[in-house]
Amino acid sequence: MNADQHRARKRFGQNFLHDPTVIQRIIDTIHPQKEDHIIEIGPGKGALTRLLLNHVEKLDVIEIDRDLVATLKTDFADDSRLVIHQADALKLEFDSFNYEDLRIVGNLPYNISTPILFHLLGYRHSIKDMIFMLQKEVVDRICAKSGNKQYGRLSIMLQYYCDVESLFVIKPGAFTPSPKVDSAIVRLSPLAQPRYELHDHESLKLIVREAFSQRRKTIRNALKKHLDETSIKDADIAPDSRAENLDIFDFVKLANCYHQQKINAL
Ligand code: SAM
Repeated sequence: MNADQHRARKRFGQNFLHDPTVIQRIIDTIHPQKEDHIIEIGPGKGALTRLLLNHVEKLDVIEIDRDLVATLKTDFADDSRLVIHQADALKLEFDSFNYEDLRIVGNLPYNISTPILFHLLGYRHSIKDMIFMLQKEVVDRICAKSGNKQYGRLSIMLQYYCDVESLFVIKPGAFTPSPKVDSAIVRLSPLAQPRYELHDHESLKLIVREAFSQRRKTIRNALKKHLDETSIKDADIAPDSRAENLDIFDFVKLANCYHQQKINAL
């Protein structure tokens, strides 16, 4: 089967880029350099792959769809710089590439964009930056600041570990088939040192999840199974504030407090 005969598979979130201006703009944003260690997630029919290869000495791509892998292998048979991995990016161990400066890029399958981002956070020490196309609504959530309606779990967990930047919007017409919503490009650059000292990642995950699962409640009520009012006050947080009005540092303080409480109870 050649690339033109491939029918887009919904279950793999396939929307292929066809607009050369948009493709070039994404490549310019990635600004690939010869010695970069770039991994592309979901190369599809190779819209970005082809242009990335003009700049780098080696390119790893991860594609789950066997048919697309077969097509890529045929289309790029003569190009030894391209290493094609038929794999599920959600299960891949990114530290197995043995680089500490990975640049991870891709027009991500929308149905699994949040789990992929959380999976990649686990490898942040090996990653220099990530440039992804996602649904615009997801990019807005990633970059939202406290006080904003889109601010939530994704904003806090990603902004705690990374600098995040929303770059530009891409309209549905740039893809085949066209998605129903706008897309956007986001850059995530893992921080060498997080801005505030967190004692336990799992505690932050739990506190943030609980706080936002009951967004309209006061933090006192939303966290009552995990922290009592005195502990919330000890963390310098007003117990009747709401999750969306607390900044990342507030959540780190709450998570550290919760973690300390767990240690004390041992
Ligand atoms: N990069 C191509 C483009 O821009 O035209 C294709 C982008 S398409 C939105 C997403 C691609 O990710 C598809 O090729 C799809 O098969 C692949 N994909 C979906 N789930 C995946 C997974 N879990 N691991 C790796 N690739 C995946």
